[in-house]
Amino acid sequence: MISPRVTLLLVTGLGQKLVVRKNLLSESARVSAIHCKSLSLQYPGGTRAVDNISLKVNPGEIVSLIGPSGCGKTTLLRLMAGLEQPTEGAVSLDPPVRGDAGGIAFVFQQPSLLPWRTAIQNVVLPLDLIGKGSASDRREIASELLKTVGLADAAKCFPSELSGGMKMRVSIARALATSPHVLLLDEPFAALDDMLRNQLGQLLLELWERRHFTVVMVTHNIAESVLLSNRIAVMREGALASVLDNPLPQPRNEEMRTTGEFGEFYGHVSRALRGG
Ligand code: ADP
Ligand code: MG
Repeated sequence: MISPRVTLLLVTGLGQKLVVRKNLLSESARVSAIHCKSLSLQYPGGTRAVDNISLKVNPGEIVSLIGPSGCGKTTLLRLMAGLEQPTEGAVSLDPPVRGDAGGIAFVFQQPSLLPWRTAIQNVVLPLDLIGKGSASDRREIASELLKTVGLADAAKCFPSELSGGMKMRVSIARALATSPHVLLLDEPFAALDDMLRNQLGQLLLELWERRHFTVVMVTHNIAESVLLSNRIAVMREGALASVLDNPLPQPRNEEMRTTGEFGEFYGHVSRALRGG
């Protein structure tokens, strides 16, 4: 069972030893599988938001959760994070990781940065909370991550000085600071325009190519789910309607959006969403 203790905004995961290295993202860190077994959650008041879902997310896999508003995507993601406890069934991570030690990272739709901390101070926060390594090591990791997301020059800027896309980059850098086994994202790019959304999707792929952490991402955007994920889990009314294997080859890139293979799988997902 994942610990429900998740700090502040995000984050953090499990019993992984924090290894302080110059290039944190290129190290071969351990990643975990997520097992959801007969998982249900009935909110007080009656809504059965998640209804008997069994799903295994393999280590290093990217799975998208897609489905109409209110079908239980956020609830399922929060169950995976240990932010909600199931009324029936269980979630387990293999190898196990603790949510309060940096192993599970959670990226919300809103970047939710602390306005009184600079970009680098926001990224260093989960490392400070865990308290591993020296202050200078932690700052070096944060600095490296900001460089990786293209924000080296903005390290000393406050959130109010950053655009929406830059804030989301900081949020992603912060989520990766603890070198998590599992990265959970709840519609992370929904508030951004199409061009930025595509750029950040590409950034996520680049980060994932360096270190294949396990990713579960909620999205409303079929094209995004097709480009980014290995499998797409289609939800309807709290249940898993279908899980589709993505035939697009790896590595992915923006040019694939115009291929026949992309269009064909897009149509397949679209039909599954409509209940076909
Ligand atoms: P989605 O992310 O797919 O839009 P949610 O997981 O947010 O769906 O919500 C699924 C269902 O659970 C909805 O009917 C929603 O109104 C209900 N719900 C979500 N959060 C709560 C809560 N904290 N208390 C009661 N009902 C909730
Ligand atoms: Mg939601």
